[in-house]
Amino acid sequence: LVKLEHGKKSFGDVAVLKDISLEVRKGEVVAIIGPSGGGKSTLLRCMTLLETLDAGSLSYGDLSVAEDNGAGHAVYGGKDVMKRAKSRFGLVFQNFNLFPHYSVIKNVTDAPISVQKRPRAEAFERGRELLAKMGLADKEDMVPCELSGGQQQRVAIARALAMDPEVLFFDEPTSALDPELTRDVLKVIRDLAAERMTMVIVTHEMTFARDVADRIIFMDDGLVVEEGRAVDVINNPQQERTRAFLSQYQ
Ligand code: ATP
Ligand code: MG
Repeated sequence: LVKLEHGKKSFGDVAVLKDISLEVRKGEVVAIIGPSGGGKSTLLRCMTLLETLDAGSLSYGDLSVAEDNGAGHAVYGGKDVMKRAKSRFGLVFQNFNLFPHYSVIKNVTDAPISVQKRPRAEAFERGRELLAKMGLADKEDMVPCELSGGQQQRVAIARALAMDPEVLFFDEPTSALDPELTRDVLKVIRDLAAERMTMVIVTHEMTFARDVADRIIFMDDGLVVEEGRAVDVINNPQQERTRAFLSQYQ
């Protein structure tokens, strides 16, 4: 569904992604863990076209987004390719990034109506369905600042789902939340995993990653240090760096 091969990215002369390959299959939940500054967000930003790779290739299914030109340089497709690629994924950030002056329902229905040109009634119906699923059925007329952080994050998830993405990316979706609000958001993600939604989740919630992800990727210093079945990586890490990282969470 998503494939990155030999991805590299530097900011100035700092190599942030050194050589990353990552494939996500349909229905799979992949968690990315690792120390701060290891390049997790940069990886997600490259995969969601918020940053461009310096080198490597990236594709969404049969759609090639960037190809390595053989001389270690990533060449991106045109506007049309970017637009089609963007319709295939959704993205949920740490800080919700809702439109502050839009009501909850408008946040959820805006892109389906203005980008996908869906009929208003249909977009609202689907939006209400998604809000109900997120446990927010009675909140549609509120504005984001009237909601708790956990509720805002669930609106952000509903908004991403409203575009019917093939894959959802999360960058630390709960790190701005109190433990109690975190639980509600993680429950929603667990439910999506049970429905076999394809997801890539950067997280510091190790128990959640172990229980919900099929696969865990441990990243440090711009490289994949270890990767494997979630239970194996958490319960029986093979690399010393993974062990050292996980020991902080015990
Ligand atoms: P955290 O767990 O703290 O979120 P991370 O693994 O997500 O960390 P990144 O945010 O990807 O790490 O950052 C990796 C490195 O890249 C850091 O050293 C950071 O300072 C640098 N970096 C990220 N974005 C930029 C940018 N736009 N310009 C310059 N340097 C950047
Ligand atoms: Mg980050």
